Amino acid sequence: MAASGGELLGLTADELAALMVDWGEKPYHGRQLYGALYRRRQLDPGSMTELSKSLRRKLESCVISLPRLQRRQRAADGTEKYLLELTDGEKVECVLIPERKRNTLCISTQAGCPLDCRFCLTAMLGFRRNLDPAEILGQVLYVLADKNLAIGSVGIGSRPALTNLVLMGMGEPLLNLENVLKSLIIMTDPEGLALSPRRITLSTVGLVPQIRRLAQAPVVPNLAVSLSATTDEVRDRLMPINRRYPIDTLLQACAEFPLKRNQRLTFEYVLMDGINDSDQDARRLVKLLAQLRSKVNLLPLNPGNANGLRPSSPRRVNRFREILTGKGLPAYVRRPRGMDIYAACGQLHLAAGHHSRATRTSRLDTNR
Ligand code: SAH
Repeated sequence: MAASGGELLGLTADELAALMVDWGEKPYHGRQLYGALYRRRQLDPGSMTELSKSLRRKLESCVISLPRLQRRQRAADGTEKYLLELTDGEKVECVLIPERKRNTLCISTQAGCPLDCRFCLTAMLGFRRNLDPAEILGQVLYVLADKNLAIGSVGIGSRPALTNLVLMGMGEPLLNLENVLKSLIIMTDPEGLALSPRRITLSTVGLVPQIRRLAQAPVVPNLAVSLSATTDEVRDRLMPINRRYPIDTLLQACAEFPLKRNQRLTFEYVLMDGINDSDQDARRLVKLLAQLRSKVNLLPLNPGNANGLRPSSPRRVNRFREILTGKGLPAYVRRPRGMDIYAACGQLHLAAGHHSRATRTSRLDTNR
């Protein structure tokens, strides 16, 4: 709970109401403040003119800290990667992926990552620390302000709004579950950022107890599980977490995950030449997922943490997909976005790819 001088971002509407009561104010001022922060995204208490002058003065002793821009890069395909610095100097990246009718923002939930997947560049950073709710939300607020984006389904003029949010940046969201859940509440609250949970996807390596806890959470996003192998032997080698939660155990937890009408689980499968991309793998994958309402996103390995691994050839990728779809399992080949600036899946690493088209532009750190 923020006392005077504390951080205001990341507090829920109820917590802000409680803070107002602590200050001897009416609780409804908490709602007003929450609306100012997230609906109108006024990040300077001085501009919250619907609040009394005396309350605004009290608020000036609190902080509303957005991350600080260190570098912004734009890829040839329009994807933009932000390198952001947090208050203690730790850094994270997030990626804005524009499409014709939508904008997807990919955010980080940890600085670094402890999981050590063989094919992922973020793993090379090691684990630094969990992000708090203010830092998770701060990435969204920063990019919305930087790009002057609306949020939800209706954009400004002819420009699409920020329509989709994916927790697929640096780190493992389910290792930071409490802070992630709190951010999800604010992101989806109609009085908060008002994004539909159906527009938010959380991607995990497959931590079984946490998947079960997420299933019971007040806000349940779409679930994506990074599978990338069809035998424990191969998955043990690619993703060490498999030794703790092997494929059967993981898929059992997935089978129990609640799905709404027309909703599916997503399985991400990084295709690596000669490792996990045989016809037999494709057929095994169909069998493994037979009982699940799911779809598969196929990602040819992006370069980065090579470890001697190579992407599957385009022919192999197509053949793999055809086996899945031929057996009735929906499968899509994901075109990598922002590869030239190391913004694609598994390429986030703070130091990677910054030689190309780096820009130091609009700083939004005046509140700090
Ligand atoms: N820790 C979570 C969130 C990170 S998401 C998770 O692992 O799901 C990162 C996604 O990028 C995952 O689906 C992962 O399998 C994928 N990925 C990692 N390295 C990759 C690479 N080199 N090429 C393509 N995809 C990769």
